[in-house]
Amino acid sequence: MTLNNYNFAGKKAIVRVDFNVPLDENGQITDDTRIRGALPTLKKILADGGALIIMSHMGKPKGKVNPKMSLSQIKDAVAAALGTEVLFAPDCADAKAAADQLKPGQVLLLENLRFYPEEEGKPVGIDKEDPAYEEAKKQMKARQKEFAKTLASYADCYVNDAFGTAHRKHASTAVIADYFSQDNKMLGLLMEKEVEAVDNILSNIKRPFTAIMGGSKVSTKIGIIENLMDKVDNLILCGGMTYTFAKAQGGKIGNSICEDDKLDLALDIIRQAKEKGVNLVLGTDCVAGDEFSNDAKQIVCPANDVPDGWEGMDAGPETQKAFAKAIEGAKTILWNGPAGVFEFDNFTAGSRAIAEAIAKATDEGAYSLIGGGDSVACINKFGMADRVSYISTGGGALLEAIEGKVLPGVAAIKGE
Ligand code: AMP
Repeated sequence: MTLNNYNFAGKKAIVRVDFNVPLDENGQITDDTRIRGALPTLKKILADGGALIIMSHMGKPKGKVNPKMSLSQIKDAVAAALGTEVLFAPDCADAKAAADQLKPGQVLLLENLRFYPEEEGKPVGIDKEDPAYEEAKKQMKARQKEFAKTLASYADCYVNDAFGTAHRKHASTAVIADYFSQDNKMLGLLMEKEVEAVDNILSNIKRPFTAIMGGSKVSTKIGIIENLMDKVDNLILCGGMTYTFAKAQGGKIGNSICEDDKLDLALDIIRQAKEKGVNLVLGTDCVAGDEFSNDAKQIVCPANDVPDGWEGMDAGPETQKAFAKAIEGAKTILWNGPAGVFEFDNFTAGSRAIAEAIAKATDEGAYSLIGGGDSVACINKFGMADRVSYISTGGGALLEAIEGKVLPGVAAIKGE
């Protein structure tokens, strides 16, 4: 079932959203992107004449009630965003009576799901090494099912619009789907867009396809690099991992960051790219600083000949041109991870060159997906968010999807 094909008139819908918004010390929301992200789904249900039961987690309360992570703090913001009153259920596992009383157009927000350990389904207070762990896990899984069944009992249909947690098999993101028929469960509009974005990158590829992977480490990106290796035409690897590649090939990298236990892996990636005919683009020159700070003195030097006492912190001018060339003319583009320490304004040139090339290619018809916290922060910092095709809201979930892993939150609905 799809959300747009479902008529919510007279129905109660329980909707899993990601309202894990950042709060300041006074409980005020500092960034409401996630609330705004769910509005199209929530508004469609209300416009149809449905009643809404909204559920989410916030923070990591580890299965215990913690007022600092209470969703009651965001009730008014949700009401303002929806333009209607929002009722609050202070115990998410005891909200049947409140749900039963809901009339079409009414909204009930449940308290933080993670106040119950059943939501995540992990046994608490017992070590993984403990011989009793397996039994505790089994028991918790049974309790998780009961918890999911209780949540399901509040509603006629289930919608999952929380892409940020789609890679988790939690009570509200996946297990609950078992208690609804195929006709009464569906992805929300935000989830649909995210799934389509991943599909554009993994299956529905228009060539040439350029992927840009940056950030600090090879080790955290290796799953994605390997999955993309079979799909891309151009693969730019940049950021801190540049120096692991430079050292692996015998280069001198000064104080640059490096994963010494990943040198063989770097050589293997170079070999794989050759075998598969992928144009691997690595930094040739870099902007190095004499300390890790925005005000560091700067020099431009070869990425494989960084002087002692200096640290490669951004892509150099020659590298920036090479990156732009590999992005120019691409029809599919994926960007995850900055090309330098973009948090320091004086070391943003490499990331900016990538963002500009992506924006230009997008203007010329490319599909561009930006995902993973830091590249999203980059695009926003450079004010180019509206010049790319899609910015993913899901960090971990997006990365797992691009690694080719099945997302439990999506599979539970699609029945795959
Ligand atoms: P990741 O979390 O692995 O995606 O990495 C993102 C982080 O990598 C950002 O905070 C960047 O500042 C950092 N980064 C990018 N390039 C470098 C570099 N050359 N040296 C140190 N850190 C870097």
